[in-house]
Amino acid sequence: MKITEFFKNLPPKHCHKCGEVIEEQHECYHNQCERCLSDLK
Ligand SMILES: [Zn+2]
Repeated sequence: MKITEFFKNLPPKHCHKCGEVIEEQHECYHNQCERCLSDLK
């Protein structure tokens, strides 16, 4: 299995705060979506 196929088969991440699906394109070190992260600022 190619590594790209491995990532495609991963289920989408969900924000632990609001439950929104987190876009995998971004470098996500957090378990929250951009909107919730910006709320923290
Ligand atoms: Zn969120």
